[in-house]
Parts: sequence; C-alpha cells; structure tokens
Amino acid sequence: MSEKIIDGKAIAAEIKNELKNKISNLNKRAPGLAVILVGDDPASHYYVSNKEKSCAEVGIVSFKTILAANCSKEELISIINKYNQDPNVDGILLQLPLPAALKNSSQEIIDHILANKDVDGLTTINLGKLVVGSKDAIEPCTPRGCMELLKRSNVNCSGKQAIVLGRSTLVGKPISLLLNAANATVTMAHSKTQNLEALLAQADIIVAAIGQAEFIKANAIKVGAVIIDVGINAIEIDGKRTLVGDVEFTKAFEKASLITPVPGGVGPMTVAMLLANTLELYEKHI
Ligand code: NDP
Repeated sequence: MSEKIIDGKAIAAEIKNELKNKISNLNKRAPGLAVILVGDDPASHYYVSNKEKSCAEVGIVSFKTILAANCSKEELISIINKYNQDPNVDGILLQLPLPAALKNSSQEIIDHILANKDVDGLTTINLGKLVVGSKDAIEPCTPRGCMELLKRSNVNCSGKQAIVLGRSTLVGKPISLLLNAANATVTMAHSKTQNLEALLAQADIIVAAIGQAEFIKANAIKVGAVIIDVGINAIEIDGKRTLVGDVEFTKAFEKASLITPVPGGVGPMTVAMLLANTLELYEKHI
C-alpha cells in the first residue's frame, strides 16, 4: 500500500491485537458491551454484526437487543435501564441513526445511558467533560479513531490549521474539540459556511464528515495536506454499488501528504475505538 495512504484497516487490526493481549491477561470477568439496535436499516445491521464479531475477536462479551422500528421511546429507555443495571455490562451503545419517529429524541434517549457506561461518549455529561478537557471524558469512537490515525501516522497537530467539515454531535463537534485539545487551530465548517474553498486552501489537516460523495475536490486542497475522510457514501459506478468518501480520492491522493481511503480508513477505527472504550470503562468498574 502507498506510503501516502493511512491504512485504517491495518491500524485497527494492530489496536485490536493490543486489546486482545490486554484482555487475555485480565483475571476477573471479561469486559461486556451491550448494543441496542432499533429498526431494520441494513447498514446499521451490518455495523452491529461487525461490532459483535470484533468483540468476540478480542475477548469482549457482547449483548444485543434489536427493537422494531416502531418501538416506543419508553420501551427503548427500559432496555437502556436494563443494561445500566447489569453488572456484566461495561458499555452501552445505541446504534445511530434512530428511525425517523425517534430521531428527534436521540439526545434525550442517549442521556439515559449512565455516564460510566457511555461507551460512545455521546451523553450530555460526557460531551460536557470533553468541552472542559476532563481526563475522565470518554472520547466518542469515530473522533477518537480519527485522532488515533493521526497519532499513529506521526502527524503532529500542534499549531496546524485544521478544518473539520460537518458539525454533528456524533462526529464534527467532538473531532473539532479533540483537534483543539491537540493544539491545532480549528475551523468548523458546515452547510452555511461561506468561502469554503478559501478555508480549505489554508488547511494542513482536513477532516471531512458531511456525507456527500466526493464533495471535496482536489483543486481545493493544499499540496501536502493530511486528509481524514469520515464520509461513507454509497454510489453507483457502472451499475455497481460502490462506497466512496466525502473527498474525491484519486485526484486528492496526488496532492495530499497522507489520506485515508473509503472504505478501509476511519470505518475500522470506529470499531477498534469502541472496543478500546469498552475496556476503559471496564477498568473503571472493576
Ligand atoms: P450529519 O448528517 O449528522 O451531519 C452532516 C454535517 O455536514 C452537518 O453538520 C452539515 O451542516 C454538514 N454539511 C452538509 N453539507 C455540507 C456542505 N456542503 N459543506 C459543509 N458542510 C456540510 O452526518 P454525520 O456527522 O452523522 O456523518 C457524516 C458522514 O460521516 C456520513 O457520511 C456518515 O455516514 C459518516 N460516518 C462515518 C463513520 C465511520 O465510522 N467512518 C461514523 C459516523 C458517520 P449543517 O449542520 O449546517 O446541516
């Protein structure tokens, strides 16, 4: 693989190995992760089965509840409470996005997860800890995965101009906070941002998390930029379903100093960080 490519699959495999070794040396119960999935979105089902498989690979016990798309908010909260009380469960993950009927209540529902079981770091309490820079904060999995990719690729963020495209609670906001904590100068861009091209042209580090296929064109980026592409977009090429990122990869590759592919970049890291966060919470419980 080219030296320019940040191989998320390989780095995630390395992290999983490290976790497997640590977990095999534990002498108490195994760490436990509970995943709650609502509805029948095929991509969410695929992600959840991947997470279960990865838990088994490293020695984490996984628990799973699947609820119908039309389940009530109360039913979902009662499952969260069940796992909150289960001493064998260290982390609780609510697979997002929730179906349309519950989507607007996502944060309210997530906030029922106990802060010390909030494996994706998305409760209001945990996000607040991230804002104040508490060492106790659990870093949300995808943003933590992006930072780990930068770290393991020896990218020093300090003093660099970073731009994050996207301001969601799941990705854009927390990654902006983590880059800021790593002393980058961060611009958080969104759909109302003006003069995006001028901002992109200055950026040493670009994190794209908007969910728009190949939106960022190579001519907009600076030579030598480091690109972390979080986006996952399914498009058809020659009648075949293909996954692409938010960045026009082939051409951006020529200008970037480092770039993540899609698939095989940030995606595998999200899962690896979920496992790492489960172990981190386990250590707080034992
Ligand atoms: P959301 O839809 O919640 O947020 C998208 C963000 O992008 C919004 O803040 C929106 O701005 C912004 N945006 C949309 N269009 C533009 C534009 N033209 N220019 C600048 N900003 C824009 O998405 P998520 O954050 O949940 O996910 C983003 C992408 O990352 C998706 O493709 C998703 O599939 C992927 N993803 C990948 C993961 C992985 O493990 N690799 C994990 C999680 C997500 P505004 O706020 O103004 O509407």
